[in-house]
Amino acid sequence: MKNITILGSTGSIGTQTLDVIANDPERYRVVGLSAGSNLALLIEQAKQFRPSVVCLANKELAEQAKAELPSGIQVLYGEEGLVELAANADADVVVTAIVGSRGLPATLAAIEAGKTIALANKETLVTAGHIVMERARQKGVSVIPVDSEHSAIFQCLNGEDVKSLQQLTLTASGGSFRDRTRDQLAGVTVAEALNHPNWSMGAKITIDSATMVNKGLEVIEARWLFDVTYDQIKVLIHPESIIHSFVEFNDNSVIAQLGLPDMRVPIQYALTYPERRSTPTGRLDLAAIGKLHFREMDFARYPCLKLAFECGRAGQSAPTVFNAANEVAVARFLNGEIDFLGIERVLERVLERHSVTAVNDLQAIAEVDAWARKEAAVI
Ligand code: NAD
Ligand code: MG
Repeated sequence: MKNITILGSTGSIGTQTLDVIANDPERYRVVGLSAGSNLALLIEQAKQFRPSVVCLANKELAEQAKAELPSGIQVLYGEEGLVELAANADADVVVTAIVGSRGLPATLAAIEAGKTIALANKETLVTAGHIVMERARQKGVSVIPVDSEHSAIFQCLNGEDVKSLQQLTLTASGGSFRDRTRDQLAGVTVAEALNHPNWSMGAKITIDSATMVNKGLEVIEARWLFDVTYDQIKVLIHPESIIHSFVEFNDNSVIAQLGLPDMRVPIQYALTYPERRSTPTGRLDLAAIGKLHFREMDFARYPCLKLAFECGRAGQSAPTVFNAANEVAVARFLNGEIDFLGIERVLERVLERHSVTAVNDLQAIAEVDAWARKEAAVI
């Protein structure tokens, strides 16, 4: 029996995590759930899974939740509540399925409390990978990837000596606009951008997939999870999302992880690792698929990925700025304030204005993050 807390239980990863749990009920107990503002779904989840504690984005929502929840469930709210939830003594594993760098304090609190981290919230590693991974190392805490590409690499590296790793390749579906030229990106709508060909995900990551920022965040995430250099990380377009990623060793042997695109597989693996259990997901039939396609990443077509590599290599405050500016730019695009290509314009301009500095602690990260958000809001 594993005790699970989910930060962001009402989102795409959160609901799929609960689906995995519901499929193997003897195996798990849900200890804590958190949501932003989707009170109705959180209450439904709490009634079904009976956690001992829940958290909502603010006090008003928490008051409403108290009135509707079965008695005996503790209700927390806000950033402090999320930190308390993440550190709750009863949990063994904390699934970080919240979106954005706002997940950082809670992720660190879970690490401090010695919880295994099933990490979906990639923005935390992008904004403060050096701090998160160092604390996890000091505390002896495992950070197990949920992101499909990183789960694939994690699985490929199982039992291998990381020193013999030559290169890892993250595959990229290409997102909603993969068959369009740059000229055809002007004037695309929010609805078109939200229509991902292979995956059904939250709004922010779907837009990030279309701009290829998502792959950029994943490059930086991979750098921290697997302790590799940026020269060892490659990105390859693979429209079918069947090969989730692969690794190449120094003997030129390549190991890949394959499967249908269904996040419940990597989510469950993060919960059961090192064990494997059956899932309610579909099985891969390569003969039925027939062909898999690959093409070289085109950095001129996807300049945000180039920017991400540059920020990763620059290190220090650059990834924090990249992430924060992107969070604001995506929110502005979703609100109809800027156009699709405006996202990369915001990123480029905020990064141009930024002088890279050391960010050795959370305070420094928070200051740089706030600066980038302010700049990104007015470009
Ligand atoms: P989502 O938007 O569907 O869900 C986000 C969750 O965060 C929701 O539960 C929401 O209530 C909560 N939240 C939002 N604002 C909040 C706030 N102010 N306070 C507290 N909680 C708040 O997002 P998602 O697609 O599930 O993605 C979650 C994370 O997982 C992201 O970091 C994303 O990059 C990563 N990820 C997602 C997928 C996927 O398939 N969806 C795949 C790989 C990685
Ligand atoms: Mg991914």
